[in-house]
Amino acid sequence: MSKKVLITGSGLGALATALRLTTKGYKDITVLEKYHQPGGRLNQLKSDGFTFDMGPSFFSMSYEFKELFEACGMKDPLEYQKLDPLYTVNFSNGKRYNIFTDLDKLAAEFEAVEPHFKTKVEKYLDNARAIFHDTENIVIKQNFDGKLHYLLQLTRVPWKHAPRMFYSMWKDLENSFESNEVKVIFSLVAFFLGATPFETPAVYKLLNYTELQHDGYWNVKGGMYRIVEELVAELHKRGVKFEYNTEVVECITDGKKVTAIRDNKGVEHKADIFVVNADAASFRGKILKRARYTEERLDAMDWTLAPFTIYLGVKGKIEGLNHHNYFLGDNFKEYADDIFKLSVNPDKPYYYVNVSSKSNADCAPEGCENLFILCPVPDLRYKKSWDDAEKLAETIIDDLGKRVGYDIANNIVTKIILSPTEWQNSLNLYRGSGLGLAHGLNQIGGFRPANKDEELSNLYYVGASTTPGTGLPIVVISSRLVTERIVEEA
Ligand SMILES: Cc1cc2nc3c(=O)[nH]c(=O)nc-3n(C[C@H](O)[C@H](O)[C@H](O)COP(=O)(O)OP(=O)(O)OC[C@H]3O[C@@H](n4cnc5c(N)ncnc54)[C@H](O)[C@@H]3O)c2cc1C
Repeated sequence: MSKKVLITGSGLGALATALRLTTKGYKDITVLEKYHQPGGRLNQLKSDGFTFDMGPSFFSMSYEFKELFEACGMKDPLEYQKLDPLYTVNFSNGKRYNIFTDLDKLAAEFEAVEPHFKTKVEKYLDNARAIFHDTENIVIKQNFDGKLHYLLQLTRVPWKHAPRMFYSMWKDLENSFESNEVKVIFSLVAFFLGATPFETPAVYKLLNYTELQHDGYWNVKGGMYRIVEELVAELHKRGVKFEYNTEVVECITDGKKVTAIRDNKGVEHKADIFVVNADAASFRGKILKRARYTEERLDAMDWTLAPFTIYLGVKGKIEGLNHHNYFLGDNFKEYADDIFKLSVNPDKPYYYVNVSSKSNADCAPEGCENLFILCPVPDLRYKKSWDDAEKLAETIIDDLGKRVGYDIANNIVTKIILSPTEWQNSLNLYRGSGLGLAHGLNQIGGFRPANKDEELSNLYYVGASTTPGTGLPIVVISSRLVTERIVEEA
């Protein structure tokens, strides 16, 4: 195929699309990336002998990665590690629950707080399973030619699921379980969509099925960045070119097609096909100047929570931490309702801690741990200044030290803090929103920014803010959908 392809951004969506396109015979592909190295949010930080995964630390639907490599004629280069337990949840009253996929073991965890847990959870998961399998192929793994096509597709989903589109995941949990602990823990998946369970429609309980029954959670031996390293190595072999520290700032068109894009150094890049892996909504606003995506209208859309992340290299081994840990307070509803729209730091933050050195010894010097701490916070629409980032980091580190019984603060070897400001500035995440556009019913399927531009016939999109949505396996699906479109229309 002699057509030249230009890809803006080098996130997972871009890398997977480039790989699929080379497989379909596209030989002349260039990737332009604003950051100094590939991967987008799936990135890596190194400091003082410690290596940290910068964003994602695990994923579901591992078969999507396998499909990618198989479709591209490659032996799967990744070694997948299944998480068991999936994670550990710590409440501020000292109660601690290991979340196992084995329902008998899980029932034993909740024995004291939720009578007849196994019967209740089986019923809850049966329904979640039905929603997943009734929507996976019809809604998630489909290209839509507009809203009408999407709505027609929706009519193929059994009507029995419809009511759950109109009430919240929390309400569904209230109908299914009695204990606050079970409800809170099962609702944590809503945060993977970047929203609270009080505003997430109950149909997304399908995520409880994906974590507990379907394929579970996985990470990659050697760290999550192995995914990027392996993809980029293969793309180099296939002749794909990469230019880093290169930001696309302008799109040049003839009104019907993009003819070239201009980068921040003033260089014009011509191509036949353009794929955008930058945020599909804000690119349309900032670069294409579309009236539907002005700053005012972008701000009025629903965006996922922003990440506040801390990367700590710590001397000593911390027994009180597993590989994946949540630390929660005792005011879940109040916290979730208010905290993300405030302009101040939370006093008692809820956060997630990942310690990849527990299973990947190379990530930290001997006798040390690497801690990745993620605290969801308001995006830059609500909290504009993060000058007080150090203070929030101190609060979290003190709290964590107390809860795991280890003097973390006095054993820090290295520390990096990324507030929503850095996430916005380094990767162009709109207002620092971590997962891109939210997944309410008005922003999914035919209502999400499409993967094919509305006006310019050779412009396509891939990634978290176009269809189907956010998260690593879903972005891999996005690469399959956009490749199908490009190949069909070539
Ligand atoms: C802190 C954090 C934790 C997460 N944890 C998980 C997890 O555990 N599991 C999971 O499945 N998902 C997780 N996610 C979500 C996951 O990272 C994303 O859904 C996924 O990586 C998005 O990939 P993408 O293809 O949309 O590209 P992105 O990662 O958004 O990459 C887009 C790339 O485009 C570049 N770019 C943007 N604008 C321009 C421009 N104008 N010119 C040139 N380049 C440009 C950016 O610099 C970036 O490199 C997490 C996200 C964050 C932020």
